[in-house]
Amino acid sequence: AMRTYGGGILEMPDLMDTRRAFLAHCQANLAALRREGRYREFAHLEKLSGRFPLYRWHRPDGVREVTVWSSNDYLGMGAHPQVLAAAARAVEEHGAGAGGTRNISGTSPLHVALEAELASLHGKPAALLFGSGYIANQAGIAAVLEALPGFIVFSDAKNHASMIAGMRGAKGAGRVIWRHNDLQDLEAKLAAAPSGAPKLIAFESVYSMDGDIAPIGAICDLAERYGAMTYLDEVHAVGLYGATGGGISERDGVAHRVDLIEGTLAKGFGVFGGYIAGDADMVDYIRSTAGGLIFTTSLPPAVAAAALESVRVLKRLPERRVALAERAAALKSALDAAGLPRLDGPSHIVPVWVGEAELCRQVARRLLEDHAIYATPINYPTVPRGTERLRLCATPFHTDAMIAALVTALQAVLPTAAIRQAAE
Ligand code: PMP
Repeated sequence: AMRTYGGGILEMPDLMDTRRAFLAHCQANLAALRREGRYREFAHLEKLSGRFPLYRWHRPDGVREVTVWSSNDYLGMGAHPQVLAAAARAVEEHGAGAGGTRNISGTSPLHVALEAELASLHGKPAALLFGSGYIANQAGIAAVLEALPGFIVFSDAKNHASMIAGMRGAKGAGRVIWRHNDLQDLEAKLAAAPSGAPKLIAFESVYSMDGDIAPIGAICDLAERYGAMTYLDEVHAVGLYGATGGGISERDGVAHRVDLIEGTLAKGFGVFGGYIAGDADMVDYIRSTAGGLIFTTSLPPAVAAAALESVRVLKRLPERRVALAERAAALKSALDAAGLPRLDGPSHIVPVWVGEAELCRQVARRLLEDHAIYATPINYPTVPRGTERLRLCATPFHTDAMIAALVTALQAVLPTAAIRQAAE
């Protein structure tokens, strides 16, 4: 069909009504998400500093106290009195926002001190703050991969979306995916690549959805043998592992062998922001080239102050790391004693297996509505279809009574069919 304009003098093909097409796409997509049980509903949860891990769950018809089993504030540092005091002091002294990018009046002594503290945490000459761990990965990896022509990144198959964003965003870089934590596969793929090409091995220490841990030292061995650099995401480990909270690379005594370590201030440290640490000139180069750093406002001073205090406090607070490990072990043995299906792993992240998206959503909902327990359902695309799970994280503040209540609730809401299927 043609439309006529100007009294039939001009004829034009049907106009694309872009707004209508996009809206139709949105509505069809949302309907599909709902059909598949993957529609994202955010529970409205109010964190209570003095009562962690108890939160107030806000519903249209009222407020209810719930136990949260899926917080990434793994050590409860988001409520540590010294961290709160540092934040309050900094708000009072420096106001609410940074007021500029790092280059445009947004670099305060707090930012500089925090970077020095993070560099020292990892035994590196330098560190660089980013707006979040996501941005640190996205901007940091892209900056590295765009530096040399023909760069190939060797990416663990379970790497986080933010690392993948950095690799995809790097113009001209090649990407090879190796099987998760599989040294043989990594070696085969390194050996198959042109020996003259620059190479980066990108991986995590603690994997956030499975709770397993990478063999960092052995990966560094391969990197040395094949002339590759290493980029390690320690987001789920910093603050939690190692004598001073430097992560798995500190625990394993291999931090000096990793070229670039990336971390977050938002999980173990309980605040907000991300960073990378490494060689002074490499970090300086990334500072000078990464768009995700240059063109965005720096962290609010109070966030930097709170994070700085948290890193310093946690360095000298191994008791919290010990308590985390003890609580994680207690959670795992209680689940096992009750015959509940979980993924086995050596970290504080304890996934309970469900294996089907709609079921996973329903189980999480019944836990919340009937048992006042909040556990996040993890669905595609965060994990592959058919591997849906609840992601539980122990913290030093989960009591034996909370563990017992969780086990009772899971036994009530997890259909025996799902349990049997997981056992097979
Ligand atoms: N890396 C990994 C492995 C993550 O799981 C996440 C966030 N969940 C990030 C990076 C991003 O960290 P942030 O929350 O500080 O943006």
